[in-house]
Amino acid sequence: MARGKSAATPAGGVDAQKSTSPDVTPPSSPQPAHHHDGDASSDSETYSPRVDRSHPQLIPLPKAEGVGYPVTAEPLPDLPEYTWQEVARHNTPASCWVYIGTKVYDITPWLDRHPGGRQVLLLAAGRDCTDLFTSYHPFTELPGKMLAKFCVGQVCTTEFPQYQPDTGFYTELRKEVGEFFRENKLDSKDPTPGMVRLAGMMVACAVTFSLMIYSCTQEWSFAVQFLAALAFGMAQALPLFHMMHDASHCAIGHTEGWWAVVGRFTLDWFAGASMNSWHNQHILGHHVYTNVLGIDPDLPMAKTGSFRRVTHHQKWNAGYRLQHIYLLFLYGLSALKFRIEDVTDLLIFKKVGPIRMNDIDNREVLSQVLSKTFWLLWRFILPVFYFGVGAGRLLVLSLVVEFVTGYFLNFNFQISHISPLCEFTDGEQPAVPKEWAQSQLATTLDYAHDSPIVRFFNGALNFQSVHHLFPAVSQYHYPALAPIVKRVAAKHGVRFNYVGTLGEAFRLHLQHLYVLGVDHVLHSH
Ligand SMILES: [Zn+2]
Repeated sequence: MARGKSAATPAGGVDAQKSTSPDVTPPSSPQPAHHHDGDASSDSETYSPRVDRSHPQLIPLPKAEGVGYPVTAEPLPDLPEYTWQEVARHNTPASCWVYIGTKVYDITPWLDRHPGGRQVLLLAAGRDCTDLFTSYHPFTELPGKMLAKFCVGQVCTTEFPQYQPDTGFYTELRKEVGEFFRENKLDSKDPTPGMVRLAGMMVACAVTFSLMIYSCTQEWSFAVQFLAALAFGMAQALPLFHMMHDASHCAIGHTEGWWAVVGRFTLDWFAGASMNSWHNQHILGHHVYTNVLGIDPDLPMAKTGSFRRVTHHQKWNAGYRLQHIYLLFLYGLSALKFRIEDVTDLLIFKKVGPIRMNDIDNREVLSQVLSKTFWLLWRFILPVFYFGVGAGRLLVLSLVVEFVTGYFLNFNFQISHISPLCEFTDGEQPAVPKEWAQSQLATTLDYAHDSPIVRFFNGALNFQSVHHLFPAVSQYHYPALAPIVKRVAAKHGVRFNYVGTLGEAFRLHLQHLYVLGVDHVLHSH
């Protein structure tokens, strides 16, 4: 059965023979928590492991409360053990724990000394940071050495399935890319190209938005108003693809001041959405668990009950037959959906998909309220009450704007991962069968590397593989890094998914939706 097979790799800590047992059953209930919470100095002899790593009962109940997934590395002797839930409770500035691989770290004393600032650590607090840690410190071993003194124990279960440990591909790739930056004396987070473009893009947004409002006040033809709305919709997407995306990945400038100012300005104040929500969905969810069904928030959350079927791990039904048609329209609604979900996720559910959102402080709540209010003010209230634009007309044009922006954004995200060339993992497995970096390449499609136009209009997301492997590097370096990624991937026998044109990537996406939509018919004879 598929659940067992995934863990059966020599690199993982799960026993191959036992994990493939057909009679695997999940533990009936969580074992009582032991002892050591918050007390790293406790005597290690007083605890007993809650799960027996050598037993097939390790296979977890997916996402069931109180049950975890097995860690992929071997347990370490003489270190206190914690469940993922125990670590998850330490998710505040007063007590900030994370785990990386097997080891648990209390990084509370490091919050104000972290060169990347405390906000990113608080975002990561209480979580499995194994792959985040490496991908956000790709070119130096120093952070790993610094961490050692904060170790307080080890985890015996994890919240989500872990990847297999790196066997050399990512280590070599990080070394090569790091040398590229050192040899060429380049700043991997140079903010200059982004800031120059930001100025031009904001001018484009101001001009197109003003034209849309002005054409209404002058009662020009609806065709002109409509075209202005289309143009503003396109213009609105550009700073999101460029500076917002880079800022959310700490890839524009070296300090949290840069990331906060650029990221909040472009997403919260300009676009009326929420960086906090985006961080949880995109940084913690999508980028770590790419195409893992049930965990990647960009995928359907369950095997049934979604309006789209993107992987064979989902159950088929006849409702999916036309998804290659209706989804193309629904993509346009994503910007609206995102604007509503950021509020509901943040204030009501405290989750984005399965990703738990850590509590935000009053300052953050105030910032969200102010930025949303400001957005409503300049986008709707001022045009209607000051410039006298009809509310109904503005609503129609705004729907056009949001449809264009949403379509533009979502379409680009979708074709990079929802493709017949991309792999999907069933999130109910005890571990992801691949190493993280190799999985990033397997779940991602690159296209049209030679087209500067495509690169400009989608914020270099046609270099999606490079982006996933080096999320904290400025997108303006991706074209130079792609050949290095391809070379090292070829050397390690890792497939690099690539097609030459945007049109081909789009065609493959449609083909994938069609095949998944009619899957039952194709396989019924
Ligand atoms: Zn990203």
